[in-house]
Amino acid sequence: MKAAGALAWVLPVSGRGVALRQPTGRDEMRLLGGWGSEPARAIAFVTQLACEGLDASSLPSADLDTVLLLLRQALRGDRVLAETACPARHCGARVDIAFGIGAYLQHHRPRAPRLRAWLVSACAERPGWFAVRRRGVPDTAAWFRLPTAGDERDVAGEADAVALLRRRCIAPWPSPPGMSRVVEAAMDALAPPLAGPLSGACPACGAGVSIGFDPRRYVLAEFCTQAGFVTEDVDVLAARYHWSERAILDLPSPRRAAYAETARRAA
Ligand SMILES: [Zn+2]
Repeated sequence: MKAAGALAWVLPVSGRGVALRQPTGRDEMRLLGGWGSEPARAIAFVTQLACEGLDASSLPSADLDTVLLLLRQALRGDRVLAETACPARHCGARVDIAFGIGAYLQHHRPRAPRLRAWLVSACAERPGWFAVRRRGVPDTAAWFRLPTAGDERDVAGEADAVALLRRRCIAPWPSPPGMSRVVEAAMDALAPPLAGPLSGACPACGAGVSIGFDPRRYVLAEFCTQAGFVTEDVDVLAARYHWSERAILDLPSPRRAAYAETARRAA
């Protein structure tokens, strides 16, 4: 059942609907505690917030990253600010690259694969799989499915993680020469990766600046930073309102933070 105040979205790649409750201090502190690799942490975080028994490991990787960005947008606003230093010699000025999550997701929305000589279609016999065939040729040359967050978690840390992912998601494997490139182009169209470079210009010297943005890493890091303030919030709220630690940790984080801010101002 969807909880009151739940955040609900339809995901662009899978078309699945998800509803999440707002995280509490308990959820945020659990993020600090572990869960292993980055994909594993992202999966566990989203799964524990899901209202309807979602296993986030089954989502295409791009959809998991989309959920994290939408959660961030709903709780902390649309604007993301990435900072770096200008790489030009003798400059080193601070460069801020700002963008909106809504526009970023719109720019990375899925589209139909456009491959000159190849056609890609959903596979009727194998749900979740796609068939690739050369134009004018009836036989299928290869099949593939989109890597899920669970696939990424399973191969995380392996030296040949990319090859292991391909082996899981492309059939036959090894695929005929050149086929990997065709399949990867199709995958990138159907599920554009959300991690990538952001471009801007140095305000001091005008040099072009590019930085890598990984939404999963960015959003998890923000929640971890937030988690660093949970014990302070508990301290402030327990002192002012005499609420128990349990009650404070069970508050939705935005409400806890707002109460704590009010209490700090009143002190
Ligand atoms: Zn510069």
